[in-house]
Amino acid sequence: MVGFNVVICGGGIAGIEGLLRLRRLAGDRVSVTLVSPQEDFVYRPLAVREPFALADVPYYPLERIASDTGTRWIRDRLERVDVDACTVHTAGGHELPFDALLLALGAGESAPYEHAHVFSDRDAGQSFREIVRGIELGHIKSVAFVLPDWPVWPVPLYELALMTAERARGTSRDAQITFITPEGRPLKAFGQAAGDAILHLLAQAGIKLHTGVVARVPAPQVVTFGDTRLEAERIVTLPRVTGPAVPGIPAGPGWFVPIDERCLVKETNDRVFAAGDATDFAVKHGGIGAQQADTAAAGIAHVAGAGNRPPPLQPVIRGMLLTGGRPLYLVARVIAGLGWRSEVSEQPPWPADEKVVAEELGPYLASLDAATDPPRWR
Ligand SMILES: Cc1cc2nc3c(=O)[nH]c(=O)nc-3n(C[C@H](O)[C@H](O)[C@H](O)COP(=O)(O)OP(=O)(O)OC[C@H]3O[C@@H](n4cnc5c(N)ncnc54)[C@H](O)[C@@H]3O)c2cc1C
Repeated sequence: MVGFNVVICGGGIAGIEGLLRLRRLAGDRVSVTLVSPQEDFVYRPLAVREPFALADVPYYPLERIASDTGTRWIRDRLERVDVDACTVHTAGGHELPFDALLLALGAGESAPYEHAHVFSDRDAGQSFREIVRGIELGHIKSVAFVLPDWPVWPVPLYELALMTAERARGTSRDAQITFITPEGRPLKAFGQAAGDAILHLLAQAGIKLHTGVVARVPAPQVVTFGDTRLEAERIVTLPRVTGPAVPGIPAGPGWFVPIDERCLVKETNDRVFAAGDATDFAVKHGGIGAQQADTAAAGIAHVAGAGNRPPPLQPVIRGMLLTGGRPLYLVARVIAGLGWRSEVSEQPPWPADEKVVAEELGPYLASLDAATDPPRWR
């Protein structure tokens, strides 16, 4: 029995990346308990392929991941944290003392518009499939993709628009596709070169783009912005994301968990870390969450006596954009919430052809067989 207890809350990208990195850095010096309510780790970013019948979302049982990493997994939900007593309380009544805690709870979701179809990775194959079929059969002739104001996951809506346009072209159907975004340029957080590349792709796909406008959807099939009123048979948007608001943990604007550059939760102690969509970092992206988790894991290993204090995180976006044709690979440094020195390529600049670039998770998942039946969380 080792004496340094780590509790990780959340079995998504940040939680599992953090778990794997911690095991690499601290080995048996730490005993780890993973708290997560779902049975599976679900590879959410591939959900956009499902409605196009390109592939199902892969998922991996947490039981297997826990067994591979010598981790105790409790299928439960974090309810509150007592920072002074260094104890996590779960909905199921567990009291888990910790020497270090990693919060990787992901984001909450809310519908930004009453009258728009909110794309969700939880039922992507079913709900958006109806729109794809309508386009393929020529029943649906106009779709507007509306990005709400921040915070959101920006990548999937561009992917859905490009893939929908490609499907219309591939089935020789006329479809008017519009994209409306509050960003000054597409994927603004990904930097200038990425924006230029997407502008080119959208134009090539015949997608009409409106930038720098916050749209409203006042009625079914109606989008308005400024003096413009636009009608579309289907209006598609993404959920707005919110922080988890954990009792006992500070919450900033939008209920996100405020962290410093080493992923320590502000105003707690040097033992509470957070990573991923739950944090107040401006860009919501799995690859960034994984980098935060690596930094947090290194910080925890340091507190446990394994290794030096990690340097501050210098986040880099590495993203694969599905286009309906060849994917594009985007790289940008994130400074003050915006992408700089971005680069675009048609070949992946990282070793494996991964949608989420995560140093530990990528190779680990590649060594497992994914299950592809509908995951049990749906
Ligand atoms: C459709 C779509 C496409 C995307 N495309 C990309 C992409 O191409 N590239 C990219 O990098 N990112 C992409 N993203 C973003 C990426 O999926 C997220 O940034 C990433 O999943 C965040 O990881 P996370 O671990 O913070 O949260 P999640 O992956 O959401 O995991 C959160 C975990 O916490 C658990 N949990 C929740 N509440 C509790 C609680 N109270 N107690 C304990 N556990 C709890 C959940 O069950 C889950 O296991 C996409 C997202 C979507 C939705």
